[in-house]
Order: sequence, then C-alpha cells, then structure tokens
Amino acid sequence: LLIGITLLLLAVATIIGYILAGRAMLPLNHAFIRQQKFTAYASHELRTPLSVLQLSVDILEEEQHKLSPVHQTVLQDMKEEIQRMTRLTGQLLTLARNDSPLQQMRRELFDLKHSLSFAAARMQLVAQEKTVQLQLHIGNTEDTFTCLGDSEQIDQLLYILLDNAIKYSAEGGTVTLGLSRNDNGTVNVIIQDTGCGIPEEDLPHLFERFYRVDQARTREHGGTGLGLAIAHEIVSRHGGRIVVTSTLHQGSIFTVILPETQRILRQPLK
Ligand code: ADP
Repeated sequence: LLIGITLLLLAVATIIGYILAGRAMLPLNHAFIRQQKFTAYASHELRTPLSVLQLSVDILEEEQHKLSPVHQTVLQDMKEEIQRMTRLTGQLLTLARNDSPLQQMRRELFDLKHSLSFAAARMQLVAQEKTVQLQLHIGNTEDTFTCLGDSEQIDQLLYILLDNAIKYSAEGGTVTLGLSRNDNGTVNVIIQDTGCGIPEEDLPHLFERFYRVDQARTREHGGTGLGLAIAHEIVSRHGGRIVVTSTLHQGSIFTVILPETQRILRQPLK
C-alpha cells in the first residue's frame, strides 16, 4: 500500500510539474513566435524599398560615364551594399520561415547526382570569373543516389557551400564536388576547396547565426554570416549532418552526410 501511495504521489507531482513548466514556458513561446513573426515581416517589408533602390542604381549606372571617378566609386559601393542587404533580407526570411512550425517541407524523391550536376553547372560562370577550377566527381553515370526530401532546399544548400568554397578560394584554386556511399545507408556530399581555410577555434561556431570568422574578410566578400546557419538547418531537416575539416591557408572540406533511400535505390527516378 505504501509503495502504491508513493507511486501515486510521484505521478501527481510529475503531472503538476509538467503543468507548471508548461505555463512557465508559455510567455517564452509567445515571445519566440512574436520575434519570428517580426523577423519574417521586417525582412519581407524591406524587400520593396530595396528593389526600388536597386532600380535607381541601375538607372544611374546607365549614365555612369557622365559621373566623376569619385561618384562612380560611390555608385559601385551603393550597388554592393544594396546587393548585400538584399541577400541578408532574403536569408533572414528563409530562416524565419524555417523557424515557423507551420512551414511544411516538401517530401519527394530526388537523385543527389542531379542536384550536384545542377549546382556545378549553375556555379560554373562564377568559378570561371575567379579563375577557380570546378571539378565534379560523381562516378558511374548509371548509379543513382536517391534521397527523400525537398530538392529545392538541397539545391540551396549546395549553392551556399559551393558559393563559399569559391568565394574563400584564391584565384587559380580548385573546388571539388564529390559523392560517395557509406556502409550505413548514408551518402557523403563532399565540397572541397584549396582556399584560405578556417582557424580551428572557429570551427565549433561556424553554423551559428551571424557568425563570421573574420569580419573584414567576409565584409569584403559581401558575406552575411547566415549562409552556413541555413545550410545546417536544411541538413538537419533532412535527418543528416555536416562535418567540416580545415587547414589554415590550405583549404577546407565540408562533408554533408544524408540518409539514402535504399529501397528504391536501383529503380530509376520517374
Ligand atoms: P558568409 O555569408 O559570411 O560567408 P557563412 O555563414 O556562409 O557566412 O560562413 C560563415 C563564415 O565561415 C564566413 O564568414 C567565413 O569566414 C567562413 N567560411 C565559410 N565557408 C568557408 C570556406 N569554404 N573557406 C573558408 N572560410 C569559410
């Protein structure tokens, strides 16, 4: 009887504890939702004035030859800052949407090989402009690497990682995109560069929002410090993880490990 009463008391105490904790969390949840709504709203609303500014700068640019060298430099600076703000508001909007519990993720089957080829083709010009060589190692053409998830988000993830790999490479560097299969039903997407590398002490913070290794360096590249936070979120949503290894002044390797959908592995995608 004593044991029964003790168990009953424990159960009641646990239930009361849960209720009180839930109540205590309520204002926090509300504050979080308010903040997330505010971010989404502010970034959305900033897009219109930014488009107007971009348009005005485009018009001025057409008449650039009439401007003094100093004014031409000012115009270029304005253009770069507008582009940075546009990227920043877009990324904030993406994060706010991802934070929302109402945000639905598409669930479709897609071949990672297609995603990688698409990413490489899309970034080819950017790489060429910087004389960075882009190499794609996706092996045998017959083999498919099928994943379940949102292929658009995976495209965005590859864009972020590839854009960084090129951005933080010196001219004449090499960026390699690779794909390999592990024994435990997962796939490795490897993005390797021969760029500036990342100091060891920065590696644990790399995926935090607004974290930038070197403020001056990233500002020069027009970075926002949000790209890797978005990349990390996309990978988590797909049940995967990202591993980074890096050697200063030699380069970095970002490995995205994603679950592979084994059952339909040998069947071609429709
Ligand atoms: P950013 O928009 O500043 O590039 P990210 O979130 O994409 O923001 O990256 C965070 C930081 O990690 C960057 O400021 C940069 O210093 C560092 N970083 C990311 N990718 C690389 C890379 N491939 N090589 C060297 N540094 C990198």
